[in-house]
Amino acid sequence: MIPTSQQFDVIVVGMGPAGSSVAFELSRAGVSVLGLEKQTHPRYKVCGGGLSARIEQYLPTDFKSVVEEEVHRLHFTYGPEESYVIDSEKPFVYMVMRSRFDQWLVHHAQVAGTEVHQNETVTRLKALPEGVEVETDKGRYFSRVVVGADGALSVVAQQLFPGRRLQKVPALESEILFGEMNLGAGQPDTQLRRYANVAIISLNAAKKGYGWIFPKHHGLSIGVGEFVRGDSRPKRSFQQFIQEDPNLSGYVVPPPVGHPLPICNGYADKKGQRWNGGLVHTHALLVSDAGHLVDPLLGEGILYAVRSGQLAATTIVDYLHNTNRHLEAYEEAIIQELGPEFRIASRLNKVVYGIPRSWHRWVGRTFPVSYQGLLRRYCGMLQSHETYRTLWARMMLKLQGPFATASKRADLS
Ligand SMILES: Cc1cc2nc3c(=O)[nH]c(=O)nc-3n(C[C@H](O)[C@H](O)[C@H](O)COP(=O)(O)OP(=O)(O)OC[C@H]3O[C@@H](n4cnc5c(N)ncnc54)[C@H](O)[C@@H]3O)c2cc1C
Repeated sequence: MIPTSQQFDVIVVGMGPAGSSVAFELSRAGVSVLGLEKQTHPRYKVCGGGLSARIEQYLPTDFKSVVEEEVHRLHFTYGPEESYVIDSEKPFVYMVMRSRFDQWLVHHAQVAGTEVHQNETVTRLKALPEGVEVETDKGRYFSRVVVGADGALSVVAQQLFPGRRLQKVPALESEILFGEMNLGAGQPDTQLRRYANVAIISLNAAKKGYGWIFPKHHGLSIGVGEFVRGDSRPKRSFQQFIQEDPNLSGYVVPPPVGHPLPICNGYADKKGQRWNGGLVHTHALLVSDAGHLVDPLLGEGILYAVRSGQLAATTIVDYLHNTNRHLEAYEEAIIQELGPEFRIASRLNKVVYGIPRSWHRWVGRTFPVSYQGLLRRYCGMLQSHETYRTLWARMMLKLQGPFATASKRADLS
């Protein structure tokens, strides 16, 4: 028998980075929040756990207490012979294990005042004139607003956003541990430890995507993602990727676990359109993966989880306090802040994954300085020195060469 409903201002479904961020901000603003999470933290989450350094501006500084490694070197490879190394004194990426990072975020939300029910699964949502009724395997609740932060397979999106059918691409990952496990395979782990502070991005690993090796304190996260839907075979790509890496040969790599990646691959190119599939419907908002807010070039999602959670919270606080405000302001904020960036990332997705790998090799060999320069700029974006827009403008400037106008050059200098 399901108990009768308890009431909250806001119910957040899913307490990953997006849910915890929105809950934290709302609780800090004095809103009553219930966070419902079907698992119990700390829980394993299939994820590379790479946070681009620009996330610093959105997280409290003590997030570094859960950082496993700082990456100061990015190593891009296109095959055994082509590789580009970009170094920086400041970190490009912070590496986290999602179990620790997500637990830390949930804890912050709880300290701020969020009531969190773990091990409780949302099963049904019903839109009512004044809010939403949320049913779980343990109870029934009512809130004025519901936030869908329940990831790529969002039940909130399925039930409250009918007809929303968006693409997801396949990604998978395995964790290889230093020490014990690999000693079991008769190998010392010295070769693996060479990857400390280095992140490997291999465009050779997948047909229309890339493979990664990310360093963690206790081991390495190794994965492959296909960023264009089609006849992808990520498991086969993964096996090939680990077999081709000389430093991994002979080590035990556990079978990878797959998870869909809801990249934003169709965001409106025309001004004035809604975000792909819509992010607001009556009293419900979708954030992060549930709203397909994943960077379509490299699949970065955690930054956008935190940021979309913050933007959603700002809108909700405004809406709860002022009757003339509307929740659509959240979608407008996303379109304004992320729209232009994701639009260019979508274009780059087509350029990077659409052209054959042999062309990349040819361009890299023929224009090594420009190619390396472009990669360096991309890495600068991870540190907030560039945006997708400035990166794209620089690419266009290079293509226009002497025909580029002086004003365009001045804009980017
Ligand atoms: C293989 C792979 C590698 C990746 N690597 C990176 C990376 O290196 N860097 C990066 O930035 N991004 C990466 N991503 C993307 C990143 O993992 C996601 O974008 C991010 O986890 C989104 O956060 P979220 O809070 O929206 O969803 P999630 O992290 O998926 O959290 C959703 C939460 O909702 C809960 N939930 C789901 N359904 C219900 C329900 N019915 N009731 C209650 N709770 C529910 C889940 O248990 C979960 O805890 C990767 C993704 C994949 C698949």
